[in-house]
Amino acid sequence: MAASPQYDVVIVGAGIAGAIMAKELAGKGARVLILESGPRDREDRKSFHDSYLTAMAKLPNSPYPPYWHGNDPKHEPNKEAVPRPMTAMTFAWPGLEEFKKWNGSQAKFDAFNKQSYLTYTATTELPFLSTYERLAGGTTWHWLGTALRFTESDFRMRSKYGQLVDWPITLPELYDDYASAEEMIGVSADVGDQRALEPYLGAQFPEGYEYPMKRIPMSVSDNLLGDTIKGLQFDRQDLEMTCTPQGRNSEYRDGRPACQGNSSCIPICPIQAKYDATVTLRDAESTNLVTTLTKAVVTDLEVGPNGLITGVNFLQYSGDVGNYQAQRKTASGKIVILAAHAVETVKILLMSNGRRGIANASGQLGCNLMDHLCYLGYGLSNQQGFPYRGPRSGSGIESLRDGPFRKRRSAWRVDVGNVGWQWADDDPTRSTHDFISGENKSCLNPGQEKLFGKALAERLNMANTRMLRLCYLVEQEPQQSNRITLSKNLFDGLRLPRPEINYSVTGSEYTLRGIVAAQQATDLIFDKIGANRHFPDHRQNYSHFINDSGYPGIEFTMDGKNYKVNLYGAGHIAGTYRMGFTGHDSVVDSNSRCWEHKNLYLLGSGTFPTITTGNPTLTIAALTFRASRSVLNDLQHL
Ligand SMILES: Cc1cc2nc3c(=O)[nH]c(=O)nc-3n(C[C@H](O)[C@H](O)[C@H](O)COP(=O)(O)OP(=O)(O)OC[C@H]3O[C@@H](n4cnc5c(N)ncnc54)[C@H](O)[C@@H]3O)c2cc1C
Repeated sequence: MAASPQYDVVIVGAGIAGAIMAKELAGKGARVLILESGPRDREDRKSFHDSYLTAMAKLPNSPYPPYWHGNDPKHEPNKEAVPRPMTAMTFAWPGLEEFKKWNGSQAKFDAFNKQSYLTYTATTELPFLSTYERLAGGTTWHWLGTALRFTESDFRMRSKYGQLVDWPITLPELYDDYASAEEMIGVSADVGDQRALEPYLGAQFPEGYEYPMKRIPMSVSDNLLGDTIKGLQFDRQDLEMTCTPQGRNSEYRDGRPACQGNSSCIPICPIQAKYDATVTLRDAESTNLVTTLTKAVVTDLEVGPNGLITGVNFLQYSGDVGNYQAQRKTASGKIVILAAHAVETVKILLMSNGRRGIANASGQLGCNLMDHLCYLGYGLSNQQGFPYRGPRSGSGIESLRDGPFRKRRSAWRVDVGNVGWQWADDDPTRSTHDFISGENKSCLNPGQEKLFGKALAERLNMANTRMLRLCYLVEQEPQQSNRITLSKNLFDGLRLPRPEINYSVTGSEYTLRGIVAAQQATDLIFDKIGANRHFPDHRQNYSHFINDSGYPGIEFTMDGKNYKVNLYGAGHIAGTYRMGFTGHDSVVDSNSRCWEHKNLYLLGSGTFPTITTGNPTLTIAALTFRASRSVLNDLQHL
């Protein structure tokens, strides 16, 4: 006789999806085990903050383990128990000119792959630009907190515009779950701002609906920009600035303070005014029905003869880099939920069944890897906006997230930055270095003057107070060939295969037209605000190709014009186990339940059929609430 499952539910991953699911299930009396691959012993914010302050390279991953940030052989991914993608490796990409010389050479890729946790096929066009974290609390440790609902059309792209694919659910079906997600995260926003966008976004709120907290006010530069672009139209629609709903306290709530204006939301909010999933994880554990095992890396799932998942195999490890001891263990639950995010969930499924994979009758598992492709437009405004203060971004241009133009090009939203050119050009460091050393990498010191004292202070004040950066989050078309598989020859410190990625952008004309539109909109806006183009000799190229930093980019021709742009990752990783209408076209159904394994649920943005125009996490949370009802219902019948 088979042993009865130890738990009602086993959840893999203690990020926002896993934590919300655990809290919801335990709230209804279910016994839950969470297996989390990373540690939580340094969960105290100060030690992470200290790691960031002392890190040589101040990158989004810098505060978090493993503390590997460059070419340190001691910390190569084959020596780490839970390596994850590193921003440092994106910077290590050779740049477009050098990359062209590789010409698909596998040997060149192998040399790069050795140091990188994400490895690449020789047909890849550029590295996948986004990262994630592997520790209790997951990637919300370093998310920005933008918490927008998706638009009505986002769910119906095929039927409304003849592009991409439809979701098997509609926006109105998610209204209540969005409200639960906003409550759980503690979103600060004003319904009035969102209602103003109704004609474009189809957003509706019940009479009397209020966000959990009032909005965080716009910054000086946001107000300046908002006023100046009033009346501008692009693609026959108004350009309008709106306060962005944010997962960040605007008042004291849940034992956490209001935002104090630290501009380091990414990578870490030093006072936890910004929500992260440790908040929900602790709530779940306080029910005494949730047990969390950390440093427990799930390797594969066991499948019984009727297709039900009967065991979750994991490695419980201890020790330190390059010297781990791991014990193989198995947990079982009536229901199993993978919430390990869009790359690691795929890996677990592919590693199952003797590395032949499970849950892939549709052939879609690992495919359709997407991100919001970030196109940065940046310049010096003719007015002082005083950036580098307040949350990294508190407002955006949302009015172009939808419209008839989606029949021919992908849409975007514009995140308006509060941190000058920090993301775009590593400023204020780069320009300061230029002014002191007489160089001109920032293009702000064409005379290559060497300044000091009062002259230096005046020049810095002139430049830093007027830096403006727009980030267009371009919707990327899902493509089968953008795909995650398992590396055959590269492993991590526990001898588990690293992800292998095939990734390109230029295969989608629809996406490229969205990028071109972002450039054109930047021209329009910068003309109106009288911004000096950052690079006057690159009239069509604000997103300057920074050859010396080797930052990744693409080249393409559109309507007879050549384009060469840098692209950045948004941290939004989606599509790799998409939901759909049948088991032939997708991996999970509209409740996030696997078509092939009835007691297996897959959570997170991997279920998104399209990446849409909104940041993903509020929708991840809403879909988790929806899935939790289905899990509770299944528990009664299993
Ligand atoms: C720089 C940056 C900024 C962002 N800003 C925003 C934003 O403003 N708005 C927004 O909506 N989104 C944003 N995001 C995205 C957001 O952080 C993610 O969408 C979200 O955190 C994903 O939640 P998740 O629970 O699905 O996955 P995660 O938070 O990644 O959690 C997955 C968990 O699974 C664990 N795990 C992985 N593998 C295994 C395994 N084999 N066994 C056991 N456990 C495992 C991991 O350790 C991790 O704890 C940002 C991301 C980045 C990188």
